Amino acid sequence: MDHVLHLKCLVCGEEYAPDEIEYICPNHGNDGIVDVRYNYDLISRRLTKNQLSKSQDHTIWRYKPLMPVLPDAPVPPLSVGWTPLYQAPRLAAELGLKYLWVKDDGRQPTASFKDRASAVAVVKAQERDSLDAAKKTIITTASTGNAAAALSGLCASVNQPNVIFVPETAPPAKIAQLLVFGSTVMLVKGTYDDAFELCLEAAEEYGWYNRNTAYNPYMTEGKKTASLEICEQLNWEAPDAIFVSVGDGCIIGGLHKGLKDLMALGWIERMPRLYGVQASGSGFMVDAWETGEDVLTKAPISAETVADSISAGLPRDRLKAMAAVVETDGAYVRVSDDEILSAIPVLARGSGVFGEPAGAAAYAGLVKAVESNLVSAEDRIVVLNTGNGLKDVASAMKSVELSGTKPYKVAPTMEDLRRVMAELN
Ligand SMILES: *Cc1c(COP(=O)(O)O)cnc(C)c1O
Ligand SMILES: [Zn+2]
Repeated sequence: MDHVLHLKCLVCGEEYAPDEIEYICPNHGNDGIVDVRYNYDLISRRLTKNQLSKSQDHTIWRYKPLMPVLPDAPVPPLSVGWTPLYQAPRLAAELGLKYLWVKDDGRQPTASFKDRASAVAVVKAQERDSLDAAKKTIITTASTGNAAAALSGLCASVNQPNVIFVPETAPPAKIAQLLVFGSTVMLVKGTYDDAFELCLEAAEEYGWYNRNTAYNPYMTEGKKTASLEICEQLNWEAPDAIFVSVGDGCIIGGLHKGLKDLMALGWIERMPRLYGVQASGSGFMVDAWETGEDVLTKAPISAETVADSISAGLPRDRLKAMAAVVETDGAYVRVSDDEILSAIPVLARGSGVFGEPAGAAAYAGLVKAVESNLVSAEDRIVVLNTGNGLKDVASAMKSVELSGTKPYKVAPTMEDLRRVMAELN
């Protein structure tokens, strides 16, 4: 892996060779998150824009030379990434904007953005196996639901055993996904934060490969592929602003990383502003953003929101998440649960993209940003839908109730239908 220079600790700045540590900098308990640093000269000799324009690989692996994996590493067969970037002129007009796109990561194989990271986790776990033929690594993660489903599906595609920790309050559809894919599922009687701690301890005790967000540095590298795609899909003319919801902060940190890669390669000319959207009941990052508090020492909050995927009392990737917004001149934005639910049908009706609450939250955040003049009419803006609406049908039903839409009951006769139609007019 000659294109990976080192792993750099974001807390103390210590640099490690890739084979020196597996996950974190050992100097700070579980908080020593590291960043993967590359040799861009080498990479730009192995990958060019022109090559990409001819690539038939419509997955995240089209960017393999920019990923922390060996050139010949086998990758899981599920088709992860290269999700559509739709123009959304009607939504743009409603908001008084000129240029708006929705990137739909609800179209991933397990229906959320998390597939991007879990695909990398599977490749890294297999790399570990290849060093020790007697081993068949078990992969583990804690998750609010989607990271689990993603790991579960990707493991199923390559017959990789895995153990998943989710809070017992996770939406049923997400738990169903885990069981259908054949994972060993631990429903933790507690919060996501409790599940996370238990998973870290279990991985240590049993020697499992740890996919946990902000612990495993390679998850950021999977998530950055969304930025690479956005810029390539816009013909390397980077947008002015990207809106994404934030729980642990790994996605927004990953988006930032992808953009930094592209700047380092000279493939884009300016850095888009990153906007992190949080639910008001889970606003650790937005609180810290407003008060200027140090995220590393700030105490955990107790998180509660309808957007379960962004419910995180202690955002695990808070260092990268804060840097993403600060270094790009973006902002953190707070939205209420009602605003999140209301955004589900608005986004769906205005673009055809049906998001789960955490996905639609990004759009709710854009609405807020327009109201508070954080964006201008000329800005080219991308909203990232991170999860499919079918992940959480109960919330979808609530969202249409809020919007005042209901179905009509009709007997199977034209006569009754005419009655209903007459009432409609
Ligand atoms: C995980 C997730 C997020 C937030 O990502 P973080 O890395 O935790 O900030 C947003 N939306 C959906 C649908 C998710 O699954
Ligand atoms: Zn350190």
